[in-house]
Amino acid sequence: MKQIRMVDLQGQYLKIKNEIDTAIQGVIDSTAFINGPAVKEFQSDLEKYLDVKHVIPCANGTDSLQVAMMALGLKPGDEVITASFTFIATAEVIAVLGLTPVVVDVDPDTFNIDPEAVERAITPRTRAIVPVHLFGQCADMEALNAIAQKHNLYVIEDTCQAIGAEYIFKDGTRKKAGTIGHASGMSFFPSKNLGCYGDGGAIFTNDDKLAEQMRRVVNHGMTVRYHHDYVGVNSRLDTIQAAVLKVKLQYLDQYINARQTAAAYYDKAFAGHPKLKTPVRAPFSTHVFHQYTLVTKDLDRDEMQKFLNSKNIPAMIYYPVPMHLQKAYQDPRYKEGDFPVTEHLSKHVISLPMHTELDEEQLEYITSAVLEFANR
Ligand SMILES: *Cc1c(COP(=O)(O)O)cnc(C)c1O
Repeated sequence: MKQIRMVDLQGQYLKIKNEIDTAIQGVIDSTAFINGPAVKEFQSDLEKYLDVKHVIPCANGTDSLQVAMMALGLKPGDEVITASFTFIATAEVIAVLGLTPVVVDVDPDTFNIDPEAVERAITPRTRAIVPVHLFGQCADMEALNAIAQKHNLYVIEDTCQAIGAEYIFKDGTRKKAGTIGHASGMSFFPSKNLGCYGDGGAIFTNDDKLAEQMRRVVNHGMTVRYHHDYVGVNSRLDTIQAAVLKVKLQYLDQYINARQTAAAYYDKAFAGHPKLKTPVRAPFSTHVFHQYTLVTKDLDRDEMQKFLNSKNIPAMIYYPVPMHLQKAYQDPRYKEGDFPVTEHLSKHVISLPMHTELDEEQLEYITSAVLEFANR
């Protein structure tokens, strides 16, 4: 059996090695390392794939969220509502910009931000909502957009884990994750569903004016060369990464399919088990399985992780510490017990290996080991 990895980037690369090597060598031969043709080509390919008017490439996912907030003109003192159960980058950029993060609890089934909790957290200082499409499934965007419209707020989607997922509106129409709010942040970190071979990111928007402002912000706030009308940052997607992404974007739907097939195998193996809650699919979203995350019941989750590791099965805890209990984000407004769903999840979730290269032999080995632990 092939060695089981949390993410098998090597196996994925070997299948498209020729195309990738040619693309990277092409950039080196051209020496157009910054803003070379592949950056624009990838941008345009991704705009078509997502059916969005503007993709603005940048250096990483964290920057993409920061740039979106800067371009929207959010100012210190403005409150930004986000989920307590997420990767720290979402809250980090809010703090870095001197904005006030307002944390709310998540839905126990989808792990995504709870729209009712969002509405309760709104104050006269609230300016934006940042839903995270966690683990590859969309947050309840129709409900969130309605709240945003009513209270005149921006919606900035964190799509870092959910590229290619589709949101299904009540009338049956579908839109890709990241194209539903005012703007969206995206990461091409190697282990993400569309990953490059280093750091990379992008912002998506359908708003022409906002896109123009984002293009200035990522380029030192420059309007005309060496004329800086705004405070900006330096955040670029380098050409080698764009060349890799242009190749890999062609395989994204295939990759999503492979993840969904692995998820279906896990689902079937664990169906109805009293100690293992399999991922719940929301009626309003497809699931692209950035992670396959179980919620355990009546078993020692940390012991289970150790047991799997002892059988050479990696398993990860995403995320062990909720936002409001992180040392750097201690805040007198929040204390332990404030976000019961998030706190419960942080103690009971476990994510199994999930990637595009899992074969049946590996899946059989992983599910047997999980069941062996759960049944003892
Ligand atoms: C990965 C990730 C980010 C940050 O992306 P980087 O490219 O690592 O900066 C932000 N939010 C979420 C939810 C992520 O998963």
